[in-house]
Amino acid sequence: MHTATTRARAPGLRFGRLFGVELFVDWSVLLVGALITFNLGAGLFRFWHPGWSDAERWVTAGAAAVLFFASVLAHELAHAAMGRLTGVKVDRITLFIFGGHAHLHGEPKRPLIELSISGIGPLVSLAIGIGATALGMGLSGTYELDWGNSEQAELVVSAMGPFATLLMWLGPVNVALALFNLLPGLPLDGGRVLRAIFWAATRDFDKATRWASRCGQLVGAGLVALGVLELLGGRLGPGIGFALIGWFLFSAARFTHRQAREREAFAAVPISRLMRTQMGRVPPQLAVDTFVSEHLMATDQRAWPVEAYGQFVGLVVWDDVRRLPQSAWAHTAVRELMTPRSRLVAMKPGEPAERALELFAERDVDQIPIVEGARLLGLVRRADLLKWYALQGGDDRRPTFMRPVSS
Ligand SMILES: [Zn+2]
Repeated sequence: MHTATTRARAPGLRFGRLFGVELFVDWSVLLVGALITFNLGAGLFRFWHPGWSDAERWVTAGAAAVLFFASVLAHELAHAAMGRLTGVKVDRITLFIFGGHAHLHGEPKRPLIELSISGIGPLVSLAIGIGATALGMGLSGTYELDWGNSEQAELVVSAMGPFATLLMWLGPVNVALALFNLLPGLPLDGGRVLRAIFWAATRDFDKATRWASRCGQLVGAGLVALGVLELLGGRLGPGIGFALIGWFLFSAARFTHRQAREREAFAAVPISRLMRTQMGRVPPQLAVDTFVSEHLMATDQRAWPVEAYGQFVGLVVWDDVRRLPQSAWAHTAVRELMTPRSRLVAMKPGEPAERALELFAERDVDQIPIVEGARLLGLVRRADLLKWYALQGGDDRRPTFMRPVSS
C-alpha cells in the first residue's frame, strides 16, 4: 500500500535508512509478529513437522515472522524505487499492522506514472511468492509429489528442513499479499491502478480519485461482510481478521473520497480569496511583555505578523511566548522569538487554495502567510479553509484538513 501524505502522524520507531528512504516500524507490528510466530509455532509447523523439537519449531516460526516483514519491506521499497525513477519522492516507509505504507511526497503527475508506481509493489510480492515457492519445492522434492496420496505428501512435508519449510510458507503468503493489494479499491495498490485507468479515461484526477475510493469503500464493506460470514460459521480468527481489515479499508477509502471532494472545492480558487487581511501586526523591537499585555491578551489572535517599515520580517505565535520564561519577557524583543520570514512556509496570492490543503497536510503549521514580494497580504489558517468550504455547501463537520481534536 502507498498513499500520498495525508497527515503528519507519529510514524513509530525508526529502524534504518535505505536508498535515502527513512524506515519506520509501528508498534502494532510486534503484535502481528507475535501472532504469526504463535500461529506457526503452535499450529501449522506442529502439523507439518510432528518430529521437530520445540526449539526448532519456535525458532523457525520466529524466522518466518521476520521474513514476512522483510518481504513487505521489499514490496514497499519497490514502490519507493519506482517513485524515484518517475520523479515522485518517497521520504519514508512505515511497517504497521496491515502491512507496509510508502509515503509519497505529492501525487504522481501522469496516469502512467501512477500505474507503474502502484503496479510494481504487487509484482515484486508475486515474484517473491513464485520464487520462494519454486525454490522450496526444488529443495524439498515436492515437484514429483503425488498430492492425491496424502501419506506420501505427509512424509515429504515432514522431511522438509527448516529452510524449505520457511520458503514453502513464505511463497504462498507473498502471492496472497500481492492478490490482496491488487483488490480494486483505494487506498490499495489495485485501487491506484484503477484510479490511473479512470484518470486516463476522464483526464480528471479528483474525479478518478472519487470513483476509485468509492470502489475502495465497496471492497472494504465486502471484506467486513466476509468477516461476519466467517464469524457466523464459527471461525473466529479469520472472521475478526477480515472484518478488521475491511473496516480499516472502508474508513481509509472514505477519508480519501472526502479529501478528493475537498481538493475539488479548492482547486479553482486563488488563495487570496480565502485569506484574512484584518489582523494586528507588531514591530520587531516590541518587548515581549508589552506584546503579551497589549496584543496577545487583548484579542484572540494567536499568530502575529512582525513588520518593519511595511516589510514582512517574521511571524510570532503564542506558543513562542509560552516557551520563554516570564522573567525574560521584559528584556526580550519579539524579533528574538519570531520565526523569520525565510523559514516560513508561504504562498503567493494567485496560487490555488488547493496548495494550502497540501501544505497543511505536509507541514506542521497552523497558518500560511500570503506574500507578494516583501509585503504580507494576509494569513490563511485551517479554520479559514473550513469557513470557505462550508460556504460552498461542503460537509463542514469533520473535513480532513482540520486537525483531529485529540492532537
Ligand atoms: Zn503496495
